[in-house]
Amino acid sequence: MPIDTHTKILATIGPSSSTREQLSKLIDAGADAFRVNFSHGTHEEHKERVKIIRQLEKEKGKFISILADLQGPKLRVGEFADGKVNLVEGQTFVLDMNPKPGDDKRVCLPHKEIFEALKPGDDLLVNDGYIVLHVDSCDKEKAITTVKVGGVISSHKGVNLPNTPLPISAITQKDREDLKFALKLGVDWIGLSFVQSADDVREAKKLIDGKAWLISKLEKPSAIEELDEIIQLSDAIMVARGDLGVECPIQTVPVMQKRIVEACRKYATPVIIATQMLESMINNPNPTRAEVSDVATAVYDGADTVMLSAETAAGKYPVEAVNMMHKIIAQVENDPLFFEMMRNSRKMPYRATEEDSITFAASELSCVLKDVAAIISYTTSGRTTFLTARERPNLPILALTPDIDVARRLVLVWGVKPFINKESFKSFDKVEDCAVAAAVKNGFAKAGQHIIITAGFPLNAKGRTNMLHTVYIK
Ligand code: PEP
Repeated sequence: MPIDTHTKILATIGPSSSTREQLSKLIDAGADAFRVNFSHGTHEEHKERVKIIRQLEKEKGKFISILADLQGPKLRVGEFADGKVNLVEGQTFVLDMNPKPGDDKRVCLPHKEIFEALKPGDDLLVNDGYIVLHVDSCDKEKAITTVKVGGVISSHKGVNLPNTPLPISAITQKDREDLKFALKLGVDWIGLSFVQSADDVREAKKLIDGKAWLISKLEKPSAIEELDEIIQLSDAIMVARGDLGVECPIQTVPVMQKRIVEACRKYATPVIIATQMLESMINNPNPTRAEVSDVATAVYDGADTVMLSAETAAGKYPVEAVNMMHKIIAQVENDPLFFEMMRNSRKMPYRATEEDSITFAASELSCVLKDVAAIISYTTSGRTTFLTARERPNLPILALTPDIDVARRLVLVWGVKPFINKESFKSFDKVEDCAVAAAVKNGFAKAGQHIIITAGFPLNAKGRTNMLHTVYIK
């Protein structure tokens, strides 16, 4: 097994990685969590993958988080009679509602909301922004465009309208059905794609009803305008750089990434950096220097999790990609500058609550006291553990929770090793004994070291963290 790192790896499952053998290898290479992508594959396939992961979780004796990523209102062109066409700069090209297969003059765009919102002068970006269509005129059923940037479009390619707010909910009918199915499978996280506003997050949370935690995928400029509110409402955030880099000028992506990571740390909301992290490993056994640097930068920024997409879903080298990502993370976390940066980037908690001050103090304590092996966070909802992780302490955070769902979900959080604790405590001595046993038995502490415990008093009361305690292990 690779050494434990603080920064976690989320690997997308697809045809290259869906067998039991491949999934097992990915876990052994360092994958902490898996993304089941509802933009592709059937319900039966997703069900089978979740079943295998849960079996492997038992076999390997470690919790694994599963994210069900909903497709969201991804807009796509229809079919071309010949599969694809080549559009030439300056030519006219029509988008319409006619389901007939397309050619080099026209294609169906089966989204009436687009035609209702389009205005002459708007640009439509097709195929990740590689093709640009400029709208000359439009009505409720078609748009006549001039090809501004040409190239090949094939059937079902994605369409983005960066500057046209669309009256579409982030949750489509397909998403509703996929969501019901994913919750029945018992996934830990739901990914909400193309979040446009805080209201989208509120609506999704209502539908999920606490049965999983919610990751808001930031890929629309309008979401960035409501960034603070969206981060506070969400259980985690994904910087979905693929669509974000199409919807916004590509050079703004690194700036937004830094801004989002910083805001997430402020609100103690875990943050995932996604897309093209080791893109060239889809076809090559080794990444480029720039890709290695990109993963390292996300880790130095303090991201909770880094994600692999097509590298593990459809690439030729899925295991090598996870292995490489793990090596990069380990290398960065081994650099003394890394924890210095984590420490220097800490801010005073923005709320003056008991739980904020206790978790802040736990991290301070770990810098002063000698030989501290771990912080033990007793948590029911997982919230205290989020706050502990926000401080990015230079030691493992052991989350002891009675709830297996919380344990699995916490896997995505920076530095957290979740364990189940079902004991109900009669005295504080028992709290201490149990924390020491969990730390020692799992190899996180030994005699001659301290551990730090955060818990709530009165004992067994839910939703309160007001106690900070140190133990010297004899
Ligand atoms: C992205 O756009 O970066 C992303 C993660 O979304 P998806 O892979 O679901 O298109």
